[in-house]
Amino acid sequence: METNPILVVGGGPAGLEAARGTADLGYKTILIDSAEAMGGTPISAGYAALTPDLRNADEALQEMIGAVTGHDLLEVRTGTTITACSGKAPRLAVSLQGPKGEESVTAGAVIVATGFQHFDPGRETQVYGYYEFDDVITLVDAERMLKAGNFLRPSTGQQPKQVCFIQCVGSRDRQIGNQWCSKVCCGIACKQAIEIRDLAPDCRVFIFYIDMRAYGFWEDELYWKAQEEKKVNYIRGIVTEITRRGDTLVVKGEDTTMGRPMEIPMDVVILSVGMEPSEGTLEMAQVFNLPLESHGFIETIGGALNTVATAVPGVFVAGAAAGPADLEDSVSTGGAAALKAATFLRRSNGKLTT
Ligand SMILES: Cc1cc2nc3c(=O)[nH]c(=O)nc-3n(C[C@H](O)[C@H](O)[C@H](O)COP(=O)(O)OP(=O)(O)OC[C@H]3O[C@@H](n4cnc5c(N)ncnc54)[C@H](O)[C@@H]3O)c2cc1C
Ligand code: SF4
Repeated sequence: METNPILVVGGGPAGLEAARGTADLGYKTILIDSAEAMGGTPISAGYAALTPDLRNADEALQEMIGAVTGHDLLEVRTGTTITACSGKAPRLAVSLQGPKGEESVTAGAVIVATGFQHFDPGRETQVYGYYEFDDVITLVDAERMLKAGNFLRPSTGQQPKQVCFIQCVGSRDRQIGNQWCSKVCCGIACKQAIEIRDLAPDCRVFIFYIDMRAYGFWEDELYWKAQEEKKVNYIRGIVTEITRRGDTLVVKGEDTTMGRPMEIPMDVVILSVGMEPSEGTLEMAQVFNLPLESHGFIETIGGALNTVATAVPGVFVAGAAAGPADLEDSVSTGGAAALKAATFLRRSNGKLTT
């Protein structure tokens, strides 16, 4: 049965898996991304190595991109986004804006996989001096340094002697309205702590946390590995201020296990910034008329048993567009969305029409 194509919006890990899935199931698929390159945030933000096994991020994502670029049933368009949509699936009239201008496509079903953006630690209510001190960086900045194969103090270019991570920056914070755990940052901090200790064995590494949430196998593969093998120091505490004394940063707060104030000099402070819905996700929610859930991500309506259905029949969501997600979640929901979109087309007998 020939049907209108399935449109996948977003070529990150979730969208790549979704598009490969629908094409492998025999459905014509159009995969679009507003960026010039596929691969999503791991590529655009320059991640170095992926959890839990430190696999090279470029290599892993290139493998996913390779699976979609040569596929007979799959058309990939970069630098393209969607400006409008009308009608109902399996005959959704969608306007695309790409390098060749505006174009209309009739889509049988849509999978939105437009991902997340990193929390900006410069927001007013934050106290970490990200835009004030060169040596206060984020997990994303640290990934870029690790990708370049070194970990140096930005202010001096020297190897740091003391580095810390501050967890839950922009997550689990009612004051700023981000009342969710971003799920990945504990694991990523443990991973980066391991990498820093490997690159600079003389550097002491601390992680200040409210509580560590390295769930599933990450507990063993990352948390305990960092602590036991790499001698990373975990301190349960709340950081209230970062100041500078001479050319050193001073992290002030409270060690909540010991119940006493702390003041520790650091050469580099890494803020474990969380995930927020991307601008593209909010735009696509509007275009496709998709309600947002209470935290601002795209709402799914199937609870735990159907993580990809939205309130609009024939439009599905995958990956971090629906909430904080690691790669495993993103790729799994990408696959689930592919199956649901294909099933939708099959059941609605979405024959090729305009
Ligand atoms: C610092 C950091 C490090 C991380 N490292 C790891 C790790 O090691 N292991 C792990 O499991 N997870 C890691 N994660 C989480 C991981 O990045 C996400 O799980 C994953 O990127 C989510 O994939 P996605 O496809 O849903 O979204 P994204 O990767 O955000 O991709 C979304 C894609 O959609 C495109 N897009 C957006 N809007 C539009 C639009 N309107 N039209 C068309 N295209 C659009 C974007 O250009 C992008 O290509 C990390 C997260 C952070 C914050
Ligand atoms: S994963 Fe860890 S650092 Fe990230 S929000 Fe959750 S508890 Fe905080």
